[in-house]
Amino acid sequence: MKPTHIEHIGIAVTNLEEATKYYEEVLGLECYAVEEVADQKVKTAFFMVGETKIELLESTSADGPIGKFIEKKGAGIHHIAFAMDNVTDALKEAGEKGVRLIDKTPRSGAEGLKIGFLHPKSTLGVLTEFCGKK
Ligand code: ZN
Repeated sequence: MKPTHIEHIGIAVTNLEEATKYYEEVLGLECYAVEEVADQKVKTAFFMVGETKIELLESTSADGPIGKFIEKKGAGIHHIAFAMDNVTDALKEAGEKGVRLIDKTPRSGAEGLKIGFLHPKSTLGVLTEFCGKK
């Protein structure tokens, strides 16, 4: 496998509106999409920085993955997502190399992309996402 670029950086925030203000007013970025992913119990806001996106994640439920993350670690960087040509193959290959997978096969993420997560216990503490069209 070979990631083509960093697709996005996922950042857990407690308040999407306030966080959006910071990215727009201080960094001068523009929020181009807000989307709720019911599956993951999050509301997301996207900003483009070159080829890479910033994905802000606000939990819609205390028992969702972002809610739990913030309770344990506080707001901050949550995961890093690599763009892959084929997420299905990349997950399979990582599994064959002994990486513990959260998703053995891709599921649907924001923006209609296929996503899959690797377990941070296998990735030096960095929750890692693969992201792509297939
Ligand atoms: Zn992500």
